[in-house]
Amino acid sequence: MKIRFMSLGSGSSGNCYYLGTDMYGILIDAGIGIRTVKKIFKERGLSLSTIRAVFITHDHADHIKAVGHLGEKHNIPIYTTPEIHQGIRRSYCVTEKLSALHICYIQKEETVEIGDFSITCFEVPHDGTDNVGYCVCIDGKTFTFITDIGHITDTAARYISRANYLIMEANYDESMLQMGPYPQHLKQRIAGERGHMCNKVMAEFIANHFPKDLKYLWLCHLSKDNNHPELAYKTVELALKEKNIIAGKDVEVIPLKRTLPSEMYCFE
Ligand SMILES: [Zn+2]
Ligand SMILES: [Zn+2]
Repeated sequence: MKIRFMSLGSGSSGNCYYLGTDMYGILIDAGIGIRTVKKIFKERGLSLSTIRAVFITHDHADHIKAVGHLGEKHNIPIYTTPEIHQGIRRSYCVTEKLSALHICYIQKEETVEIGDFSITCFEVPHDGTDNVGYCVCIDGKTFTFITDIGHITDTAARYISRANYLIMEANYDESMLQMGPYPQHLKQRIAGERGHMCNKVMAEFIANHFPKDLKYLWLCHLSKDNNHPELAYKTVELALKEKNIIAGKDVEVIPLKRTLPSEMYCFE
């Protein structure tokens, strides 16, 4: 079975990931404009009619902007926890409200089957109404999605260790954040326990707890002001090297672009 993965956008201007087979797929988050989603789908020869479900990580605008349209106009069920659905309902950035028909609840540590996909959601520490990551198993391959995470908990570590393909937040470089233009309260929020993940902490965690069968590590949700793709890559490369793991040989490491889609990765 061919499995395809693509990022449609990753960062505070909008997050959306596609995971699919030849026949159908799912989206993780829908935080970019619907016109952009449609444009990228068209360019890549995909159709929204093949999307069987959208899974939402939390109710911040950069993760939910297009849920109303995807649910109501394209008849796609939107899965997330009851608390996140409540947050979506209240959110000013979702103008088209979801009807009961398209609201699907999933509980943490519960697995939902959609075709060949088994999708499990799990708790992550962040400052949305409620916050989850997703672990998706398809045909013996495991994809773990962790975006917007303040610190790595035992639960997150458990899902990281299972991953063959890991999409993991590398939001900021510590010194860029501290030296940068953000006001103090915002710096504190970002660096806080329920904020975002810094390059170094993530890189050292992955190097020290390298998942046994990890093949790809995509760095996601990079900050525009407090990070650079090359810097995030180098930080990971260096931390891995100290444990004799070679980026590009033992594992592919790829920073995802903020406002441009990635290539379509295909795995058999
Ligand atoms: Zn975000
Ligand atoms: Zn967030």
